[in-house]
Amino acid sequence: MHIGIPKESLAGEARVAITPEIAKKLGAKGFTLSLEKGAGLAAGYHDDDYQAAGVALVDRASALAAPIVTKVRKPDADEIAAMSDGALFIGHIEICEDDGTLKAMFDRGIRPVAMERIPRISRAQSMDALSSQSNIAGYRAVIEAAARYGRFFPLMMTSAGSAKPARLVVLGAGVAGLQAIATARRLGADVYAYDIRPETREQIESLGAKPIDLDIGEEGSGEGGYARELSEEAKARQQELLADELAKAHVIITTALIPCRPAPVLVSEDVVKRMREGSVIVDLAAANGGNCPLTEADNVVQKHGVTLVGHTNYPSMMAGDASAFYAHNIANLLAIMVEETESGLVFKDFAEDEVTAAALITPEN
Ligand code: NAD
Repeated sequence: MHIGIPKESLAGEARVAITPEIAKKLGAKGFTLSLEKGAGLAAGYHDDDYQAAGVALVDRASALAAPIVTKVRKPDADEIAAMSDGALFIGHIEICEDDGTLKAMFDRGIRPVAMERIPRISRAQSMDALSSQSNIAGYRAVIEAAARYGRFFPLMMTSAGSAKPARLVVLGAGVAGLQAIATARRLGADVYAYDIRPETREQIESLGAKPIDLDIGEEGSGEGGYARELSEEAKARQQELLADELAKAHVIITTALIPCRPAPVLVSEDVVKRMREGSVIVDLAAANGGNCPLTEADNVVQKHGVTLVGHTNYPSMMAGDASAFYAHNIANLLAIMVEETESGLVFKDFAEDEVTAAALITPEN
């Protein structure tokens, strides 16, 4: 069974889907691999290391022509055109955007396996790329905030005076939010956090942060560990009740998300105006419109004396580890997709496993 790994084509994407370490493991399981020359370089993985792991170095066309193609980002039109009829594609498909990618794949009989459709259940944790990458984003968001905040995060007592710890608020305590809390605590900030799912309270406390409790008259838990969208009244009440907490913050990290919905607005312009000069907001939801309407996707801007950071690809800024985690996710998924027979590896029936059944996109589902 042959896997092709093309170089990522999206501008600024530094990750690669398979690392040399994982290539070696896949080779030992009976897969053969071809990598587009130089595909791992931006993430710090060299062609020599792939070669030593048994990977064939090929041109772009050959990597894309493999019966299984794996990437980090969704394939663009040229990549789909270069893939073989009936190939299996494993990667992010960015399923919320209806931009014709899926139709183009179905027209060629290409079977897309979407990493964002891996269910968030215990058994699939090792394959959950959304989580592995959000974890990195949560960490990197705090590092970004610390670097842009012109003061200390921890309490500092020196012979030249003392500095109070930064007051940091994390909005949304899912995967990215919990990692942001843990990282900010390690840096010594005074951390507060808010989420609409009440079950996050205990997790927030266990990381040493203080939960912000708001009575918005509605509960936000939805299906599969995700939040559900609030009514317009509850949204307005939430913004109003959060405003005082947020205006006191020196750093806000926002991670509130409901899959395939525009990001909920949690930090209004009025709140930004009330924040202390030099405060920082890192808006992880920038790609989906932002949890703050002043955020600009892929930009860092100053508004009312506050720095708003709208980067949309933190995992790519930590491409070495992000690729290593992603490659693990892919290898663990491949492991449940195939079985060994006398004639070598063969695909199992994807419909028979809840993880592969959920991840494989068909024209019907
Ligand atoms: P997640 O689903 O694990 O967490 C999102 C959390 O937001 C959930 O706990 C949910 O309950 C909470 N939430 C939803 N609506 C809310 C509201 N109105 N008020 C308070 N909390 C609310 O998602 P995640 O994997 O942690 O991702 C978080 C965000 O980070 C997403 O927007 C995702 O797209 C983004 N992200 C950005 C980057 C980047 O590079 N910028 C990378 C990875 C993830």
